[in-house]
Amino acid sequence: MNVVDSERIVDLLEGIGYAQVDAAEKADLVLLNTCSVRDKAERKVYGHLGRFKPIKDRRPELIIGVGGCVAQQEGEKMLETVPYLDLVFGTHNIHRLPELVLQAEEKRRGSVTDFLDRETRLNLFPHRSVRDNVTRFVTVMQGCDNFCSYCIVPYVRGREVSRPSGEIKAEIEGLVAQGVREVTLLGQNVNSYGLKEDGELSFAELLNEVNQVAGLERLRFATSHPKDMTDELINCFGRLDKLCKHIHLPVQSGSDRILELMNRGYTAADYLRKVEGLKSVCPEIRLTTDIIVGFPGETEDDFLATLEMVEMVRYADAFTFLYSPRSGTKAAELQDDQSSVLKQERFERLCALQNRIGEEIWQQDLDKVLPVLVEGESKQGDGQLFGRTTWNRIVNFVGEKELIGMTVPVKIVKVFRNSNLGELI
Ligand code: SF4
Repeated sequence: MNVVDSERIVDLLEGIGYAQVDAAEKADLVLLNTCSVRDKAERKVYGHLGRFKPIKDRRPELIIGVGGCVAQQEGEKMLETVPYLDLVFGTHNIHRLPELVLQAEEKRRGSVTDFLDRETRLNLFPHRSVRDNVTRFVTVMQGCDNFCSYCIVPYVRGREVSRPSGEIKAEIEGLVAQGVREVTLLGQNVNSYGLKEDGELSFAELLNEVNQVAGLERLRFATSHPKDMTDELINCFGRLDKLCKHIHLPVQSGSDRILELMNRGYTAADYLRKVEGLKSVCPEIRLTTDIIVGFPGETEDDFLATLEMVEMVRYADAFTFLYSPRSGTKAAELQDDQSSVLKQERFERLCALQNRIGEEIWQQDLDKVLPVLVEGESKQGDGQLFGRTTWNRIVNFVGEKELIGMTVPVKIVKVFRNSNLGELI
C-alpha cells in the first residue's frame, strides 16, 4: 500500500514541477512515507528525520515532510516535536500534498490529517500516470473494518471502502494497453471487497472479470483475511488461468485461544479447512503467511500450536514478527508476563522451522524449467534480467533486454534463500 501511495506522491509532485533524484543530499524536497504497523518502524521515522537535519542546516530552503500512517497518528504533534519539519500529511490527504509543498516553499508549515467521507475517498482512488512497468499494483479497496486486537491499521487508514469494479477493470485495461502484463489487486483485506457496497461484485466475481482482460497474463492479489476466504474465492484458483498459484494468507497464530484474543474471527481448524480447499483445487499452490510471536499471554502450548500449523500448511515463506504493542489498540491493554528472552527464543525456533520448510519447497524447483515473466534488469546491475515465477519467486538470469515484458522458459540452476538463479532455455 505504501508503494502505491509513493507512486501517487511522485505523480502529484511531478505535476508541480518536481522530479525524482536518487539521494536526499541532492533534493529540494524530502518526504518520508511512513509505516506504523510495528513499533520499530515508527521509531525509525524519527531516526531518519534526524539524518536530514544536517542537510537542512546547510540548506535551509530544503523542505522536509512526513506522510503515511505515522503522520496520520501523530499529526500536528510531529511539527512540534521536530522543529525543522515543514509538512505532515495523513493517509487520506495525499491529494493535498502539492498545496502543502507550495505553502512550505513560502515558509509556511502545515499539517493535514482529516479523515475523509466515503464519497470523497471513492473519487480520490489513485489514477496514476504512465510508467513502463511490466507489473503494477491496482488498489481495489482501502481501509479495514476488522479491528484485529493488535493492529493499528483501522485507526490510521480508516474504514473500509471498495472502488467500483467498472473503474478497476477500466484501469487494468488501460495498463495492459501501456504494456503491463501482471496486476496485483491491492487492499488491506481484498476478500471483503464489495461486501459493503450495494450491488457490487464479490471479490471472486471481480477476479473473474479481471481474468477476462485481453492481453493481461497474470493476476495476483494481496492481502487476504482467512475469515473472508469464501469457497467461491478458493475455487478461483482452480478455474482462472491468469491467477497465479500463490496466496499470502496471514495466519498470525495456530492457537485458538490466541486467535480469539487477536479477534481474528477464525479457528486453526477453520484456517486449515481453507488451506485444504486451496490445495485440492490447485495442488501446485504455494502459501506464504504472517505470524506474530509473543502475543500477550502466549504459553508454550499456544506457541507449539503455531509450530504445528507451520508444519501442517508447509508455507513457502513467512513474515515472522515479535509482537510489539501499538498504543490505542485492544491488545495494548492486555497483561503481558512473558519475558523478552523467552519470546526471542520462540521467535528463533519458529524461524528455524520455517527456514527448513521453505528451503525444502524452493529446492523442488532445482533443474526444472519454469515460465518466468521478465520484469526488468536485475537489481544487482550485473547485466542479468530478473522476473518471477507464478509463486512470486524472483529468478535472475542472463538474457537480452528485448525479453522484458515476455514470459520465457527458464531452467532453475541454483536456489538461494530469497531468489533463484536460472538459465534461459
Ligand atoms: S485485517 Fe486485521 S491485521 Fe489486517 S489490516 Fe485489518 S485489522 Fe489489521
